[in-house]
Amino acid sequence: MNDKEQTKHRLAVLGAGESGTGAAILAKQKGYDTFVSDMGEIQPTYKALLNQHGIAWEEGKHTEELILNATEIVKSPGIPLNAPIIRKCQEKGIPVISEIELAARYTKAKMICITGSNGKTTTTSLIFDMLQRAGLNVGLAGNIGNSLALQVAQQARDYYVIELSSFQLDNMYDFKADIAILMNITPDHLDRYEYQFQNYIDAKFRITRNQTAEDAFIYWSEDPVINSQLQKLGLRATMYPFGSKKAHNVAYIDGAQFVVEAPNALALRLPVSDLSLQGRHNQFNSMAASLAAQILHIKNEVIRESLMQFRGVEHRLQYVATVRNIRFINDSKATNVNSCWYALESMTTPTVLILGGKDKGNDYSEIDALVQEKCHTLVYMGLHNEPLHQHFDNMGLRIIDTDNIHDAVRQAYQAAHEGDTVLLSPCCASFDLFRSYEDRGEQFMQEVKRL
Ligand code: ADP
Repeated sequence: MNDKEQTKHRLAVLGAGESGTGAAILAKQKGYDTFVSDMGEIQPTYKALLNQHGIAWEEGKHTEELILNATEIVKSPGIPLNAPIIRKCQEKGIPVISEIELAARYTKAKMICITGSNGKTTTTSLIFDMLQRAGLNVGLAGNIGNSLALQVAQQARDYYVIELSSFQLDNMYDFKADIAILMNITPDHLDRYEYQFQNYIDAKFRITRNQTAEDAFIYWSEDPVINSQLQKLGLRATMYPFGSKKAHNVAYIDGAQFVVEAPNALALRLPVSDLSLQGRHNQFNSMAASLAAQILHIKNEVIRESLMQFRGVEHRLQYVATVRNIRFINDSKATNVNSCWYALESMTTPTVLILGGKDKGNDYSEIDALVQEKCHTLVYMGLHNEPLHQHFDNMGLRIIDTDNIHDAVRQAYQAAHEGDTVLLSPCCASFDLFRSYEDRGEQFMQEVKRL
């Protein structure tokens, strides 16, 4: 090996999913000695991409000699911070970063970043829709679509709209969001944060890291967790609070009007009933998106058009079908208790709720009142329904116990009366019975269509 090769940076990417593969392709393009290692099996499409770019990889193991000689590590968001290999990297003092951190080094595009416990994908997709309608050269990245790194490697964009989970934020250091959006913070993923809510809150607030007064911070001003944190932190970014009432908010509801008035922009007003995304939570998502668009000087007429025409994202309170006058709603993406709260709140008929799955340390008491008000039957669907039995069985509702989607849908259908809604809003992750929440939603819709 000559001197030049010895000093070359070596980047080890752990996890070869969408973000890991993208990071490896970008790193290789930028001249890193790149190696990819995945404890599990790598999907054939990602293997093909790695091979096509001449990137060395391994699967089913982490060979330490090939990883601990790296100058930097990119960790996929799915790998916990306390995984043995990550611990070893940290002990050796090798910096561990996220794919977004790596990608951001190689683009000057404006970054619009969205995080929160709920509403990320909807808000991200809505902002992307607004920027596209405005004719901007924009990419959609993060938890949605192609990784940021792959896009940075393949095409130059002026703007990126990026959905960031707490796991991605965990390993971001020099990254700066030009516009940061924090939708809300409720307990989620506590299993990954040592069951300490504060650790999860701190991860979410990393979205404001490195921001200056020139940057924008858009947030839900009625969230007690966000507010108490803001008092402690004293952020430098320019603040854009939104909420259900005017108060000091720059986006709010005024009677039956939806109002958005970022400073230096003309006020946008439209009837709440004209918003394409219905439900209280979606009003907040629409406010956050509209503020981002106004900050980017997008015309109100474009924002209005998007708000009225955007069709929403699959598996989020998605209408499936009506059978024997029973409506079926797929809210498979409700993977935590708070998102189920919003789903229940938007129910206008008696409801049969299908819930359960991989419990992440859930406290179900948050939905007690709404369950009692709206539901007459609960259908548990999971490998381990014990926590559900323990929490809900004594409420006096009808309880049905299942461990597969076929039985859950059939029995929910039999329990429902004409005019009712059957709502799949599980409060839990899907991995006990399904590949993903999308898979759970697809199977739910197929079962409904078979009724
Ligand atoms: P995320 O990407 O954060 O998981 P989504 O936009 O995919 O959020 O929505 C997930 C679920 O959360 C939806 O099914 C909906 O019921 C609920 N939800 C959406 N927006 C909000 C919000 N602003 N506040 C609370 N719950 C929401």
